[in-house]
Amino acid sequence: MPAHQKYPNLFSPLDLGFTQIKNRALMGSMHTGLEELENGFERMAVYFAERARGGVGMIITGGISPNSEGGMGAKLSNAEEVEHHRLVTKAVHDADPDVKICMQILHMGPLARNDNPVAPSAIRSRIASTTPRELDEAGIEKQIADMVNCAVCAQKAGYDGVEVIGSAGYLLSTFLVEKTNQRTDQWGGPYENRMRFPVEVMRRIREAVGPNFILIFRIAAMDMLQGGMSWDEIVLLAKKMEEVGVNIISTHFTWHESAVPTIATMVPRAAFTGVTGRLKKELNIPLITSNRINMPDVAESVLARGDADIVSMARPMLADADLVNKAFEGREDEINTCIACNQACLDHTFNGMEVSCLVNPRACHETFLNYEPTVEQKNIAVVGAGPAGLAYAEVAARRGHKVTLFDAASEIGGQFNLAKRIPGKEEFYETIRYFNKMIEKRGIDVKLNTRATADVLAAEGYDKVVVATGISPRIPDIEGIDHPKAVSYIDVIKGIKPVGKKVAIMGAGGIGFDVAEKIMHSGKFAALDIDIFAKEWGIDFENHPRGGVTGVEPIVAKADREVTLLQRKSTPVGRGLGKTTGWTHRIALARRGVKMINGVEYLKIDDEGLHLMINDRYEIMDVDTVIICAGQLPLRGLYDELAEKGISVELVGGAYEAMELDAKRAINQASYLAAAV
Ligand code: FAD
Ligand code: NAP
Ligand code: SF4
Repeated sequence: MPAHQKYPNLFSPLDLGFTQIKNRALMGSMHTGLEELENGFERMAVYFAERARGGVGMIITGGISPNSEGGMGAKLSNAEEVEHHRLVTKAVHDADPDVKICMQILHMGPLARNDNPVAPSAIRSRIASTTPRELDEAGIEKQIADMVNCAVCAQKAGYDGVEVIGSAGYLLSTFLVEKTNQRTDQWGGPYENRMRFPVEVMRRIREAVGPNFILIFRIAAMDMLQGGMSWDEIVLLAKKMEEVGVNIISTHFTWHESAVPTIATMVPRAAFTGVTGRLKKELNIPLITSNRINMPDVAESVLARGDADIVSMARPMLADADLVNKAFEGREDEINTCIACNQACLDHTFNGMEVSCLVNPRACHETFLNYEPTVEQKNIAVVGAGPAGLAYAEVAARRGHKVTLFDAASEIGGQFNLAKRIPGKEEFYETIRYFNKMIEKRGIDVKLNTRATADVLAAEGYDKVVVATGISPRIPDIEGIDHPKAVSYIDVIKGIKPVGKKVAIMGAGGIGFDVAEKIMHSGKFAALDIDIFAKEWGIDFENHPRGGVTGVEPIVAKADREVTLLQRKSTPVGRGLGKTTGWTHRIALARRGVKMINGVEYLKIDDEGLHLMINDRYEIMDVDTVIICAGQLPLRGLYDELAEKGISVELVGGAYEAMELDAKRAINQASYLAAAV
């Protein structure tokens, strides 16, 4: 059977009447910030063209504002800006004339990053720093006219269509919801009036662009807001959009201010597509679904169930530009899967940094990180098969170097073998699977259960040795640290040491949080079961109350333990976690009853428990177990020995620097070094 026949739905074309989309795989809209950088459009052209060559049927760009009030760094409203966008559309159509590219029109409304945000009413969002200015009638007409102009400009720039975002707490959606729209004129009050603004935007865009231009409306099919949109309101809006000439409805599942995770790695795959499926039954136009669809089999089953007509994968296309081609050719095991960590994509966006991808540092950096074939093959030993060593070995071998990869453990992955055991981090298995496949494909010689020594490496005569030996856990210098109550996080995660009922966790970094999650879990993991996930986050998929969550109490199964997470810093516990995911971990642990205390000083551990000062108050915490999660130190003895022998040696990953190390930095550093060797 040809490989693509495994995915008959994914690889069937979609007929829109005036045009066809070659398959059902969409690269969904994702803000990269490229358009705001010098040479950003050139970079964006290369980035999107690579994805077009990678087999997607349609691409939607990141959001572009129609005017300065719209709030994005980049806008499209005049002939000069049209020329910039032409670079992108041309590059995509040159790469594959059958790939459609649509531009997303994003008016951020009250969430705009400017001094003068506008909204239907002067109501500040929980996540905004400014109260928006209420639009008057003329202001509303101006916003509509600017959005129409933006769509016309997009058409002139060579886009095949536009998507207008009507969700997430951005301008259009704030007209729909009572709590953000308290107007009493024709744009507020009863739902028919609140709907008027988004409907007028789409109706007038259709009039201006004519019938042969793809028009997509992004709707919040479940906005996750207490008192958000009701199901009937959503259906009515979608039907109205169909009536005014929208070709495709794209379903979205949140407002940014909601307190329910919808894309983090703890969310089960395809958790929300059933909502799209319900809406599909009400409409005659195609629907796009999204969120946590990261592999072709997931996409295929969503389509086969009839949940949607098109499957959107945004982050997965950052992680692997060739995802669709690999599925088509039966090379699924070569897919570098998005692990939904948000660490290099959304966290960067929200921190004002350049976007990339933890598992693929080339993402958005295609113009300057390339893995060209080497002109001079080297014989390279890489010691350590954690993320840093794996990335180095893969890139170096891909470029034609001869690579031998050593690890003392019986499997590759390094600390990812601990991470994958944390509830909600099951996606880390995929990265290990990917590297195992790459080792085979690139012909890397792997020596497991082999602790490399300087003598052996010297004797084997490598041109270069790369030391990626990672870290050793920091053991704080505290009286009683060798007491039987004190255990290392590694032994806890591996299940080597038992954990008592009363537990103190010393150190509240990423690992402290992960360990708390692991020991407080009971029953099935939410990330693997949509019903449990819905219960834990208070979502009612069946009855769809307002927002999907109104009046639904989260129900969390927790282990029979008392756990306290401790840190010395006086900053709020968990502040250093990821910008877009940290809050989910803090809420999840708080619901499991984990106490969090900052500003502590550890004194000693003995039979009585953990002695400490909490804000100048002496306390003995009566605990059975103290789990040490106090950070890490670089493991680089091997490097020193090799350097002493005069061998060409390089450090990478945790071995290079353990402070603030994460897999993003380890893979990024290794990839750049291996691209240059
Ligand atoms: P390591 O992963 O530590 O790998 C080093 C390897 O070297 C090991 O396999 C070891 O066996 C081998 N080795 C050492 N000495 C020798 C020798 N002499 N000979 C042969 N082999 C040797 N990071 C994130 O970015 N996001 C997360 O969500 C995340 N979650 C985590 C959760 C947990 C529970 C843990 C423990 C870590 C997590 N991390 C996370 C951190 C991330 O895993 C590390 O930053 C990353 O693994 C560091 O990569 P590395 O290759 O430098 O080192
Ligand atoms: P970490 O984030 O640096 O946290 C270490 C913790 O130990 C801190 O809370 C620190 O806080 C405490 N500490 C440091 N020195 C200490 C000492 N001498 N005595 C007692 N406590 C001490 O490191 P980590 O938790 O080990 O994580 C390692 C890396 O993996 C991190 O860089 C992290 O980004 C990554 N990771 C990421 C995630 C994720 O979800 N993104 C998850 C897990 C791990 P105080 O000094 O205030 O006590
Ligand atoms: Fe996916 Fe993480 Fe890469 Fe973002 S950084 S695309 S979430 S793997």
